[in-house]
Amino acid sequence: MKSKILVAGAGGFIGGWMAAELSKNPENEVLCVDIKPIKDWYQALNSTRNYQADLSDSRVCGQFTFGVDIVYNFAADMGGMGFIEKNKALCMLSVLINSNLLNSSHHNNVKKYFFASSACVYNLEVQKDPANPGLKESDAYPADPEDGYGWEKLFSERMCRHFYEDFGIETRVARFHNVYGPKGTWIGGREKAPAAICRKVALSKINNLNDIEIWGDGKQTRSFTFIEDAIKGVELLMGSEIREPLNIGSSEIVDVDTLVEKVEVIAGISPKLIRKYDLNAPKGVRGRNSDNTKIRSLFNWEPKISLNTGLEKTYDWIYNEIQESMTAKPIS
Ligand code: NAD
Repeated sequence: MKSKILVAGAGGFIGGWMAAELSKNPENEVLCVDIKPIKDWYQALNSTRNYQADLSDSRVCGQFTFGVDIVYNFAADMGGMGFIEKNKALCMLSVLINSNLLNSSHHNNVKKYFFASSACVYNLEVQKDPANPGLKESDAYPADPEDGYGWEKLFSERMCRHFYEDFGIETRVARFHNVYGPKGTWIGGREKAPAAICRKVALSKINNLNDIEIWGDGKQTRSFTFIEDAIKGVELLMGSEIREPLNIGSSEIVDVDTLVEKVEVIAGISPKLIRKYDLNAPKGVRGRNSDNTKIRSLFNWEPKISLNTGLEKTYDWIYNEIQESMTAKPIS
């Protein structure tokens, strides 16, 4: 008996990789939906059924969850700090997607529902030290998340919890920590730090420039999770009985200066680029890392692909994307 699976936001970065992974199993019938035209999807697969539709509309959600066994919700209006700090209302409107998708899933007897939450749900107070020892799942409360985007994620996490408690629909919630990799946003204002830095370094190399603009003072810390680890984490979570939100994030903490240095080495740039720090640019919290005690104890596993390995693959992909787009129109 085939499993019918809906991947919401499949035209995006993580949704595209999830759909690709799910469609490898011949027992799965994978339905992919995204608001973007299919020609703009990072991965529009021949092995899946692909539709362009707006999942913030409850009728559309009703249509696409009909007869479906499992829903993965990766659809959201989101981006890196440059986007979420300036588009709080848009980020909060993603609440319509999750609310309508979850409600329709309940009415259509979907068996299991996945929601992509974020480390942005964590209380801001515990993210002021660059030497952050790691955010535990319990650090989301008392609630003081990232304004706009983080509040939407926290609210939607709770909807998942209450839909299980009140209606019995099995929900699973991942708190992703900065996921990066090939086939994701790298230009346009929604890109996150790893992709933005890979693009800037690649452009410096291609155009023979000797400087790089860095948002903030370079001392803010993060951990970055390679896409293959993120997908593996979701698979483990979906196969488990864990109904509480779970960190899916690397615990390899680095500051932004180190991130830049790593990409420079991968690009073979020498001497080092001159750093131009933009202290007025959006920079987010001072220190963020994932505490993986819970995921390790549950699965005897945690994200483990090193930043160097992940960045090599990401840099190569972005470098090629730039070269391809430059044949059409130069990028500065
Ligand atoms: P993404 O922007 O690449 O993908 C999201 C997709 O959702 C986009 O393709 C977008 O067009 C689609 N979408 C937006 N509104 C829609 C609508 N109304 N109907 C249908 N589709 C719609 O982002 P991503 O990096 O793949 O993130 C996927 C999910 O994971 C999001 O919920 C995001 O908040 C969450 N998340 C991502 C990260 C990360 O580092 N990438 C970290 C934490 C959480």
